[in-house]
Amino acid sequence: MSGNLSREEAVHQITNREATVVTKTDSLGKIWASDVFNLARMEWALSKNAFKAVKKTVETGEPLDAATADVVAAAMKEWAVSKGAKFYSHIFYPLTNASAEKHDGFIVTDPQGNAITEFSGSLLIKGEPDGSSFPNGSIRMTNAARGYTAWDPTSPAYIMETPNGATLTIPSVFMSWTGESLDKKIPLLRSNDAMNKAGQKVLSLMGETEIAPLNSSCGAEQEYFLVDSNFANSRPDLLLAGRTLFGAASAKGQEFDDHYFGAIPERVQVYMQDLEDKLYRLGIPAKTHHNEVAPGQFEIAPYFEAANVAADHQQMLMTLLKTTAKKHGFVCLLHEKPFAGINGSGKHVNWSVGNSTQGNLLDPGSTPHDNLNFLLFCGAVIRGVHLHGPLLRAVIASASNDHRLGANEAPPAILSVYLGDQLEKVFEDIKDGKLSGSEAGGLTDMGLTQILDFERDPGDRNRTSPFAFTGNRFEFRAVGSSQSVSGPLVAMNTMLADSLNWIADKLETELSSGKDQTAAVIAVLQTLMNEHGNAVFGGDGYSSEWHEMAVKERGLKNIPTTADALPALQEDSVKKLFESTGVLSPIELESRYEVYAEQYILSIEVEAKLVIEMAKSSIYPAALHYMTGLADANASMASMDIELDNSVAKTVAAASNAMMAAVAKLSTAMEKEGFASTEEHMQHCANDVRSLMDEVRSHADVLEAEVADELWPLPKYREMLFIK
Ligand code: ADP
Ligand code: MG
Repeated sequence: MSGNLSREEAVHQITNREATVVTKTDSLGKIWASDVFNLARMEWALSKNAFKAVKKTVETGEPLDAATADVVAAAMKEWAVSKGAKFYSHIFYPLTNASAEKHDGFIVTDPQGNAITEFSGSLLIKGEPDGSSFPNGSIRMTNAARGYTAWDPTSPAYIMETPNGATLTIPSVFMSWTGESLDKKIPLLRSNDAMNKAGQKVLSLMGETEIAPLNSSCGAEQEYFLVDSNFANSRPDLLLAGRTLFGAASAKGQEFDDHYFGAIPERVQVYMQDLEDKLYRLGIPAKTHHNEVAPGQFEIAPYFEAANVAADHQQMLMTLLKTTAKKHGFVCLLHEKPFAGINGSGKHVNWSVGNSTQGNLLDPGSTPHDNLNFLLFCGAVIRGVHLHGPLLRAVIASASNDHRLGANEAPPAILSVYLGDQLEKVFEDIKDGKLSGSEAGGLTDMGLTQILDFERDPGDRNRTSPFAFTGNRFEFRAVGSSQSVSGPLVAMNTMLADSLNWIADKLETELSSGKDQTAAVIAVLQTLMNEHGNAVFGGDGYSSEWHEMAVKERGLKNIPTTADALPALQEDSVKKLFESTGVLSPIELESRYEVYAEQYILSIEVEAKLVIEMAKSSIYPAALHYMTGLADANASMASMDIELDNSVAKTVAAASNAMMAAVAKLSTAMEKEGFASTEEHMQHCANDVRSLMDEVRSHADVLEAEVADELWPLPKYREMLFIK
């Protein structure tokens, strides 16, 4: 038995739960960003000159001098203390998908024993957490532990509140003593820089004279599951691995399509509203929420922001989704595939680049064929996806996302670009060396006078593409729900930077040969499309025809598992990409490969250990218990000369034996050591370990359907998914 609440008791308690209502009366205007030390607050708190300096840093990335940092630190502390903060913390983003914090008090004492508060520019700028316990690949030995966090003034500091106090939280980068990035923020900032420089080159060749710094934007749609904590706490797999390692399918799943966009259960809506209130105070622009496809699955999407800020906000959002859920009696699952047989969760990363002078460079306007800047930037993306598909696959690779990719619910493990009808036609024309018109979407006509006609979008949506153009941005749909958005953003910005540099070179040559601007752009893009147009695909990404065509005719790669995907980080082309753009040095890249590979192996090993433990200590005993009952019944019946059909007993015995045999094989596989390389170890996990885990599960799931319901120790799918 599960040792805690019985399933029956859990169900009883849950049906009597009241929504945790938190009375909130303040308007959006009052709470919006009230806990953020943003530019508006700084303008109010700082001298004119200090404010001007900070604003410049935020907008252009120019360095801030020490004296101004001191002034900002003093104002920040004063503001934080007035909001009840006694501690401050540099928050940073190590190579796991989590956030990390080290808290320090403002307090110091004077010789008389009085407590005073202190916070100088140097404390704001630099923190020093012991870095040796964070994953660092081969960058540092554990005896060389020094790591630094450093303030990122381009992402605003904020107050994190608990019922008992407040902490001033300062977004930071994290690096080794030798200056290598140990985090996800440094490469993101560098990739943005590289993209900016390359973009400036292209725009100035296109005759633009006033060009503001370019920045990338990100709007991330976060999917998640909510399970009542009474259920989740009785499932060791949900607690430790974030997904169910066992579980027979519920008779009803998502086949009626009745959950997607359905009415949100009240308890869930109360949770969402509580969460959004917190997000607004932190200046996170939560914009949409709705039920997702699977029962128990939901989505929240904030409005898009500058990529660096959006990435920090995304981390906070994931933390708050979980902590707020706890208060409402839920466990929030961010795992990509918590339940077999129904949809998993993704995190669509919507991404665009632009600036304040040229606007969004991925916005085609109504006549894309006339918008040369757009065509160049869009072409740069196509080239990037074609050249660096395996890199894009590697940055979304994880043990958990492997369960989702390639299944018929999520983008395939083949990287292609969807452009939509209108754009695909424009780029087809370019391949033929011409630019003719673009077809508009046309007006809708429903034959109803009371419904106003409106302009249709020029392209449809394609939900089967991993990388889709959606009107004024690209949507990277293959990102997993538990992942940091930084890795994908770094890859996208960097491949764009590289392609824009390539375009700038070609454009310069064409222009200096005397071609006019339009002819030069067509010539460059024609070459680009001839070399890289194979990545453009508008059809059904789930179909087996595509899987075959992509690999055989188009030369694209189908990379099903993380074990196959991560080695791309060691390819020369990827090393060169990151080194030439200044985003990651070869050492930094290598350390990432090692860290991610290790995380992959560890996650599968933890799951495998849990499979063995749960099979032996809860599922097998339940089966034995049931068989004993059947045997007793058989004996009593026999004493009355009645013969019982023993087919159930036979099935249960056979499944139990088969399960324990698979457990033994899995245990043996887990003992294997002495791998020749990390790659070989990953392949062992991807193939041998994982398939044996599936084998154990298949027998256990048979048992779940056979064993008397009252004896089954683990909350069942139907309970976890449908009881709220
Ligand atoms: P859908 O589910 O139809 O894809 P959503 O409204 O759920 O759309 O999410 C779209 C996301 O894209 C939002 O986060 C939105 O702010 C973001 N977005 C919109 N325009 C841009 C843009 N130019 N750059 C980046 N993200 C954008
Ligand atoms: Mg979307």
